[in-house]
Amino acid sequence: MKMNDRKERINFVWDIHYRCNFRCPFCWFNDNWENMAKLNADKSFGEVVEAWKRVYDKYGECHMMITGGEPTLYPNFISLVKELSSMHSVKVTSQLSTDMYTFARELDPGRVILDMNFHPLESKLEPFIRKVLFLKKHGFSGGVCYLAYPPQMDKIRYYQEKFESKGINFALAAFWGEYGGKKYPQAYSDEERKMMAPYLGDINRIKYHLEGHKTRGKLCRAGYCYASVKADGRVTRCGPLSHKPIGNIFDRDFELSDKPEPCEADVCPCDEYVWLVENDGTR
Ligand code: SF4
Ligand code: SF4
Repeated sequence: MKMNDRKERINFVWDIHYRCNFRCPFCWFNDNWENMAKLNADKSFGEVVEAWKRVYDKYGECHMMITGGEPTLYPNFISLVKELSSMHSVKVTSQLSTDMYTFARELDPGRVILDMNFHPLESKLEPFIRKVLFLKKHGFSGGVCYLAYPPQMDKIRYYQEKFESKGINFALAAFWGEYGGKKYPQAYSDEERKMMAPYLGDINRIKYHLEGHKTRGKLCRAGYCYASVKADGRVTRCGPLSHKPIGNIFDRDFELSDKPEPCEADVCPCDEYVWLVENDGTR
């Protein structure tokens, strides 16, 4: 019997491991890959499946967003996603550098979706587009996301045209970090903000992701309907509260909170602001 009495499906974002074959200059893990790799869990295929099966038994079907590092480099990744997607719906965030042809042939697009990141400083456009089109042909939906990193902003329109001319959706993410001695997203000019706004989506995304509005004290369902799982299994309410674990996914008695709680972070830079109670029903 499933014990989930929440109105909506629980979402987990899972940093499956901290490993990547790219070295993007804006990556949050830069200069820290060695230390991050120490957090990679030494768990067998069976132990990992078992952990997510316990989640299924307790909360029913959840939505798992698998990220990393580059998740597709995880050992036996396709077989693992096949197992997990028989219990939970799955989204994989990938830069598509690995064998996405086998991924497309083996996995069920009814259970697995993709979030595809194009990093022009590390990826070549033509092979990337070929993979996206092959995935689309096999029924995988999902668009391409491009980071508005200052040195690659002048190419936004160029890449937008390249992708859209092939029927591929194109979206932007704002850069959170330092470049040229300036702190972003605060350093984006008014003109840049205006240009980016239509690609960013809803008004809350502009408010919290682009403009960094304060979230501390606002009631949030992170930790209740949503949680972030680190590579070593530690679970936190969300990315900004990564230093405050609420349990470990590999513990048999792992549980989420039974109600929304006030936000304990100043800002919510990624898209996790959607879990604020004030956004209930607007996602
Ligand atoms: S692809 Fe992602 S994880 Fe890998 S280096 Fe680039 S930003 Fe980091
Ligand atoms: S608003 Fe953002 S930072 Fe605050 S608890 Fe919710 S998800 Fe975490």
